[in-house]
Amino acid sequence: MTLSSVWSIFTKIIDICVIWCMLYYILKNVKNNVKMLLIVKGVIIVLAVYILSELLQLHTVGFLLTYVFDWGPIAVIVLFQPEIRSFLESIGRTKLLGRHKVLTVEERERVVYEIMDAVDYLRKNKIGALMVIERDVSLQEYIAPATKVYADLTSPLLGTIFFPNSPLHDGGVIIQGDKITCAGAVFKTSMDPNLNKKLGTRHRAALGIAEESDAVALIVSEETGKISIAVDHEIHYNLSLDEFRMMLVEELKPKTEIFYDADGAESEGDTDER
Ligand code: ATP
Ligand code: MG
Repeated sequence: MTLSSVWSIFTKIIDICVIWCMLYYILKNVKNNVKMLLIVKGVIIVLAVYILSELLQLHTVGFLLTYVFDWGPIAVIVLFQPEIRSFLESIGRTKLLGRHKVLTVEERERVVYEIMDAVDYLRKNKIGALMVIERDVSLQEYIAPATKVYADLTSPLLGTIFFPNSPLHDGGVIIQGDKITCAGAVFKTSMDPNLNKKLGTRHRAALGIAEESDAVALIVSEETGKISIAVDHEIHYNLSLDEFRMMLVEELKPKTEIFYDADGAESEGDTDER
C-alpha cells in the first residue's frame, strides 16, 4: 500500500466523519424543534413531488417547482431566521477558550465569598435557588430569553433575586465571571432515569445544564435547605457548607492560572486537573 492510498483512505474517513457529525447535529436539532421538523417535512414533500413530476413528465409542475427550489431557501431563511440562528448557536456551543475575562485570584475569592454568603443565607431560610456558572460552553441560548441583570455578583443581590415572591425568583441565575448576567433562566431538565425520585424540577434543571454543558450549577433546596452542586453530568447532593465551598473553589479554578511575580510580570501556570 502506497503512502498516497493510505492518505486517500484517511481523507475518506475524515470525510465520512464530518458528514456523520453534520447529520447528527442536524437531526438532533430537528428532533427537538417543531418548526425545524416542519421545514424538513416540507422539503421532503417538495422533493417527492418533484421526483414524481419528473417520472410522470409533468412539465408544468416541474417548472413551478424550479421556482420553489430557486426561492425556497431564501424564504426558509427569512421565515425561520430565529430557528436557524439558535441552530447555528447550538453548533457553536463548543468550547470557546478565553471568551471570559479571566478573574484574578482576588476576584475569584470575592465571587466564592459572595456566593457562599448567599448560599448560607438561602439554606438557613429555606429559600430555593439555582445558580449556574458559565464556563467555556456558552449559555447564550438560556440567557437570551431570560431577564437581563448585568450586575456585580453580590450576596444581597442573590438573596433579593431568590426571595420568595420576588418577580425573578423562579428559574435560575446565570453567572459569567464576576457578574450576574440574568435571572429567571429556564434550563432543559435532565431525563436521567437514575436520578433520585425525591428530587424535583430544580435539581433536574441543574443536572440538565451540567449534562449539556461544562457549567457548574449550584442548588439550594426550598423544601429541605440542602445544598448541592451539579457538574460534569453528575449531581453532588446534600453537601456540607465546607464540601460545597471546596467543590466551588476547585471548579472555579481557571485552566491556566496567571501568576504575577514580585515585579508584576505575568507568567502562566497550568492548573487544569480536570
Ligand atoms: P426544591 O428542593 O427546592 O423543592 P425541587 O428539585 O424539588 O427543588 P421543585 O420543587 O419542582 O424542584 O422546584 C420548582 C422550582 O424550581 C420552580 O419554582 C423554579 O423556580 C425552579 N425550576 C423548575 N424547573 C426549572 C427549569 N427548567 N429551569 C430553571 N428553574 C427551574
Ligand atoms: Mg420540590
